[in-house]
Amino acid sequence: MTRLEFELEATAEGSRARAARFRTLHTEVLTPTFMPVGTHAAVRAQSREDLLSSGVQVLLANTYHLLLRPGVEIFEKFGGIHRFMNWPRAVLTDSGGFQIFSLPGSRTLREEGAEFKSYVDQTTIHLSPERSIETQKAIGADIMMVLDQCVPSTVAHKVAREAMELTHRWAHRSLAARGDSPQALFGIVQGASYDDLRVASARVIAQMPFDGFAIGGLAVGESAAQREDCTALVTEHLPGGRPRYLMGVGTTRDLLEAVHRGVDMFDCILPTALAKQGVAFTSVGRRDLRRAAYRVMDGPIDPACDCYTCRTFSIAYLFHLNRVRETLGWQLLGMHNIHFYMQLMRRMREHILAGTWPEFYRSQRDVLDARDCYGRAPTHVTKAQRAKLSMQLGRYEVTVRDGTGHVRDKISGEVMHPVSDPSQEARLLYVEQARLIERLRGAGEEPDAGPLVLWDVGLGAAANAMAAIHAIEGDAGAVRAPADAGAPPRPQRRRLSLVSFENDLDALHLALRHPRWFKHLRHAAPRQLLAHGCWNSGAGIDWRLLHGDFADRKSDAPLPDIIFFDPFSFKTDRELWTLAMFRALAALCADKEVELFTYSYSTSVRAAMLAAGFFVAKGMGTGPKAETTIALSPRAAALPHGRELLGRDWLARWGRSDAQTPFGAPPGEERWREAVSAHPQFQ
Ligand SMILES: [Zn+2]
Repeated sequence: MTRLEFELEATAEGSRARAARFRTLHTEVLTPTFMPVGTHAAVRAQSREDLLSSGVQVLLANTYHLLLRPGVEIFEKFGGIHRFMNWPRAVLTDSGGFQIFSLPGSRTLREEGAEFKSYVDQTTIHLSPERSIETQKAIGADIMMVLDQCVPSTVAHKVAREAMELTHRWAHRSLAARGDSPQALFGIVQGASYDDLRVASARVIAQMPFDGFAIGGLAVGESAAQREDCTALVTEHLPGGRPRYLMGVGTTRDLLEAVHRGVDMFDCILPTALAKQGVAFTSVGRRDLRRAAYRVMDGPIDPACDCYTCRTFSIAYLFHLNRVRETLGWQLLGMHNIHFYMQLMRRMREHILAGTWPEFYRSQRDVLDARDCYGRAPTHVTKAQRAKLSMQLGRYEVTVRDGTGHVRDKISGEVMHPVSDPSQEARLLYVEQARLIERLRGAGEEPDAGPLVLWDVGLGAAANAMAAIHAIEGDAGAVRAPADAGAPPRPQRRRLSLVSFENDLDALHLALRHPRWFKHLRHAAPRQLLAHGCWNSGAGIDWRLLHGDFADRKSDAPLPDIIFFDPFSFKTDRELWTLAMFRALAALCADKEVELFTYSYSTSVRAAMLAAGFFVAKGMGTGPKAETTIALSPRAAALPHGRELLGRDWLARWGRSDAQTPFGAPPGEERWREAVSAHPQFQ
């Protein structure tokens, strides 16, 4: 008769991985499960609420430490650990054996039990199987462990056999000491690294009326392969109808391998211990915040994680906290690690129950616990490696052609301004087409017109914004209207309010590392913009950065006169090219004369603009593109604008095109079709 009412729910095909559930005195436990280590009745740097919300079902506490402090009498006074630490779910206590034999200090071992000196007050403590059980009863653990003798995995066969036999005798005494207590008790299989001893121990312990079985004496210096072989050997000899617990193991990958070999329960200090060093376990392997490359990295430490840390803080911030040894960093990283471990166990369980374990196991083996190779290591980096790494940041990398740098998105493969000279393209396509200089000089403008507002959507490596600034400052061949040739330039009469929108500043940070290849950045403005979010030329230019998604930030800027619309294309920056986005923009621009310039001339982008209410004109060609696109608000279109609006020939081609539908048009909603074909510009 078991105290845990263990119920096996599923065993994976082609594997020993299993899903089960059992009931303790305080909670039902679903397996496989991980038990965070609360050595001193607390998981280091973690709050009770965070542990509960991570889904922790069982907490492990150390009898050895709790026996010394606070002492059994405190648990007796409080009626046990649950009330003492206000923990509502299950607690498992180890027996103290592991600490006695692994911590430094003198100890003596007899048949009766072990004696050791208290590290608190140097008194001699006697720990027998009976005293261990008595202490665990007082602590009030849902699951108690027998006292065992742990030996290093490398000891001689004779020593290992004697320790195993002593452990077996102590197991009988522990069961007797437990008596009729409702608390569950697990036996422990020993035998060091000897297969014959492990099998013998498993057979003996499995014959005893324990509520569950543990594999002890591992994670003490053996190789991962030895540990996995030993685990598989032992689980083969344990009864199927009781929980199996691999003590002190391990990394996320160790857990996956052990579940594959039939283990249900784990404990380990790694999630919190490594968090203290700045190491996180994530869905893409380890992240080591000691790596300098993380200093500027935006985004969560694990994009696939929904824990508080990942929802709230950037990697750069966690890097900083770790570097200054701020306790909060340890706490936040530990919270993520525990959340990640618990989430991983739940996923394993789901895949076992769903019959998809083999695929999951194969897909995770090489990913879980992969060593971090992001950025440069703190030491042992060759000059060539450092040079290579300096060419990458976040999702971007620099490529150089003919002495000119280009920023490439590593994920989509797309290159910003892929033409041979990005600065020239920025000047022709945006600055000149927009007649920026003439408008600032006030040709045809009201004398008291306010600042000209220019939106730079998709700051990127700042090619367009800097083209505007250089043009205004008369740098690199000032832009002059042909009529002005030879005549002295008229002074700038309007201020320029330049607003750049960008959600990922890594491209600019990266390009700024290489002024050699990004000549347009040899100017104080971009660094000032990154440092302070704004830059003022002192001579008629205010530049502001709105960091975040354009969809959210566009309402934080003054309404534009001119828009440089230059994000990555649809395949990378999908949201920016949709019908909904152009409708929102058109609504913003409805009462103003606004011109929008973009490199795209795709049929669906133009259809989206027309459907949103813009008038759409052909823009100049650039590089391989025969033309580009200019969108005008109705008020801008009503003025003499000199743009070449798309005519009925375009409409006819659109009517035959496979790309009629604007991006992101809601299925079933066809208002856009009527809006395009009946657009006033075609009448
Ligand atoms: Zn997280």
